[in-house]
Amino acid sequence: MITKVAVLQEMYLDRPYTTSKPLKIEEVVLDAPGFNEVLVKIKAAGLCHSDLSVINGNRPRPLPMALGHEAAGEVIELGEGVKNLNVGDHVVFAFLPSCGHCSYCQTGRAALCEPGAEANGNGTLLGGHQRIHKNKKYIYHHLGVSGFAEHAVASVDSLVKIDSDIPFDIAALFGCAVLTGVGAVVNTAQLKFGDSILIVGLGGVGLSAVLGAKAAGASKIIVADLNPEKRKVALTLGANHSIDSSKEGALEELMKLTNGGVDVSVEFAGAITALEFAFLATKRGGTTVTAALPHPDARLQLSPVMLVGQEKTLKGSYLGSCVPSRDIPAYIELYKSGRLDVDKLISHTLHLNDINEGFERLAAGDALRQIIIFD
Ligand SMILES: [Zn+2]
Ligand SMILES: [Zn+2]
Repeated sequence: MITKVAVLQEMYLDRPYTTSKPLKIEEVVLDAPGFNEVLVKIKAAGLCHSDLSVINGNRPRPLPMALGHEAAGEVIELGEGVKNLNVGDHVVFAFLPSCGHCSYCQTGRAALCEPGAEANGNGTLLGGHQRIHKNKKYIYHHLGVSGFAEHAVASVDSLVKIDSDIPFDIAALFGCAVLTGVGAVVNTAQLKFGDSILIVGLGGVGLSAVLGAKAAGASKIIVADLNPEKRKVALTLGANHSIDSSKEGALEELMKLTNGGVDVSVEFAGAITALEFAFLATKRGGTTVTAALPHPDARLQLSPVMLVGQEKTLKGSYLGSCVPSRDIPAYIELYKSGRLDVDKLISHTLHLNDINEGFERLAAGDALRQIIIFD
């Protein structure tokens, strides 16, 4: 079929993106779904910082690539061998496929799925194929999703079926922002009821972590971001205190608020100074989690003596250490029962044609989650 997708042909283009227009809306050929694949009509897709990291070259990927990794839609055609999905099903895309067979998938650590990571690195679907092309030239898939498109072909192992009563714009958020943010708090950091928490970096993922910390029963939620507007939003979502971590005396202020540090800190900012702040703010015996993706050349210096003498733990978190097929439906239930105010994360809705305006807004720090709506 012929469909419209947003394609990135070149990284490192200068801002403003409203002028350089890194994403071009192109009419492409989308092949029919192959074995264990389905065709999805995309209904909503979110703009995430990880897309921006490909656009600005922080996360180099093979090009040309059809971007977008946070989306929801409706299954309209089944490939051969598909058993667990039907035409008409509503689905959320997870940005890492879970093969179900590797040692990680089999031990409940789908976030580390090896064939999934390999396919994502190669810019193919889980089965190794590319299904998008134009003028006989193939276009790479972004994390098995390529959701900035009217239609997408995806592996069934990239999809999670959801109830049909949840709006698509809300549902899309569960594929990246909510999965990563809530998962980092409850799965990776394993926040316990009554723990105090510091959340550094308040984009869509960080704000989702605030919602997760509140739902999980954190006693004190402290947030840090350089942007005062985002700190204000976090306070409306359930944070109790906000801090400008770049300010002189910020760490002392936090120590005073918490009697010597937080039980858990989670960092999403992607700056080394932010991770250092999160680590130093963690109390003796506490856990620091980072789920940010700074430039691959960035290096962290920390004192092993502090790690040992204070028995601190430093952990990485990918995909919120989630099992998408288990956690996306569970988090959606929390939303439906009013315990995860995900709708408050959406600051803008837009049309596919306005995608470069959306990314400029994201790069400028003027948006929370922006969702592209498809008719
Ligand atoms: Zn994302
Ligand atoms: Zn696997």
